[in-house]
Amino acid sequence: MSGAYLGMPAFPEAAKTSTKNEQLRANLTHATHTIRDKRAAAVGELDDWAQLRQAGKEIKDNTLARLDHYLLQAEAAVQAAGGTVHWATDAAEANRIVADLVHAKGESEVVKVKSMATQEIGLNEALAAEGITAYETDLAELIVQLGDDLPSHILVPAIHKNRGEIRDIFAEAMGRWGRPAPDGLTDRPADLAEAARLHLREKFLRAKVAVSGANFLIAETGTLVVVESEGNGRMCLTLPETLISVVGIEKVIPTWRDLEVFLQLLPRSSTAERMNPYTSTWTGTTDRDGPQEFHLVLLDNGRTATLADEVGRQALRCIRCSACLNVCPVYERAGGHAYGSPYPGPIGAILTPQLRGLQSELEASLPYASTLCGACYEVCPVAIDIPEVLVHLREQVAEQVEGHRVERAAMKAATWLLDHPAALTAAERAATRTRALHPKRLPLPGPAKAWSDTRDLPALPAEPFRDWWKKNRKDGSR
Ligand code: SF4
Repeated sequence: MSGAYLGMPAFPEAAKTSTKNEQLRANLTHATHTIRDKRAAAVGELDDWAQLRQAGKEIKDNTLARLDHYLLQAEAAVQAAGGTVHWATDAAEANRIVADLVHAKGESEVVKVKSMATQEIGLNEALAAEGITAYETDLAELIVQLGDDLPSHILVPAIHKNRGEIRDIFAEAMGRWGRPAPDGLTDRPADLAEAARLHLREKFLRAKVAVSGANFLIAETGTLVVVESEGNGRMCLTLPETLISVVGIEKVIPTWRDLEVFLQLLPRSSTAERMNPYTSTWTGTTDRDGPQEFHLVLLDNGRTATLADEVGRQALRCIRCSACLNVCPVYERAGGHAYGSPYPGPIGAILTPQLRGLQSELEASLPYASTLCGACYEVCPVAIDIPEVLVHLREQVAEQVEGHRVERAAMKAATWLLDHPAALTAAERAATRTRALHPKRLPLPGPAKAWSDTRDLPALPAEPFRDWWKKNRKDGSR
């Protein structure tokens, strides 16, 4: 995944810092509550939402079951329409393909459509290392790029910034990237949007190469689909001479008929709109209209391995609507950066460890970044049972990761104590008699510290429950 996220601390460590940031928490709470309420209203308008959700789930599952077939069908259709298809096993290969294509055009800058796949592979950083500047054109991505920041939400990458902070970023950084912000820029949304529009227009008109992702790839015709709200994406997709699209292999769907389902599920789940403002579709190249050269880079980067896992593969159904982020109590408090990947929130907690593997401390911590409350499953438009995958991944972490041997030893000790009632009674009495001396927190060492550091010990009662029961309920009554 992205080099920009490499070396980030494990979730508990990162969350400890972010939860102390009151401004961040206020921004997040305001934004997520607003979006979630609107989404609930938009979904509530449809009587057949449950059937649509089931249809979305089944289309994705059936496609994943024959993924090889649909990918080859899509490849043939793209080629027949004048496009070129490249297969990338991992991030490094995908980045190399894109950089080579840009070099081949003799260009040193590209405009970009907002894309999770290119964030996942760290494309901007890889291009920069090759002397190529990538300009983000989605408004929120632009804010993140100008602020030298990282995205913290799938749909609203700058959700952690308020209007005043955005004004300051524009005023300070726009001049270094191109056209400066107007003098006396205010924090009114219309003024901020106008400043971004003027700044970006220059880029759209100059760029010869654009890079995009895609929300869907329709196998029967090799058509790619991008849905967006601003129209900036469409400018990128139509104005430059060359278009390069980096698309995860799970984005393929069999037919246009299937697209009908997702174009209903996605906008209501993500932006609470009945239909999204801009839906762009393109198939290969067309004479004298739009880009005259088209390259599709099909990205694996851990997806085949995820597909092989019977429980975990459902994460590949995700259509990146971000509804699960907006209802997650952990995301709301910790913020997106704590997840150490472009995929934050509940979907990030199951997708990142599967795409990257569970070896490092960060990935092994992510399946625990949840209360398992199930709110994410309730809102997911393709019914991904995120809690089920979280528990499944926790099982793998407990099996694989050294630190969790301590947990197993603690469970063994507890089992022995519960099997020996006399010892348990003695331990309970000793604990209640010495309760005045107990610390508020257990100062445990090593891996157990992560648990004890964030939990207060409950106050012990003056006598153990079983002693109280004997004294007060001698006749066994309730
Ligand atoms: S997991 Fe479901 S709710 Fe979350 S982003 Fe993906 S599709 Fe949306």
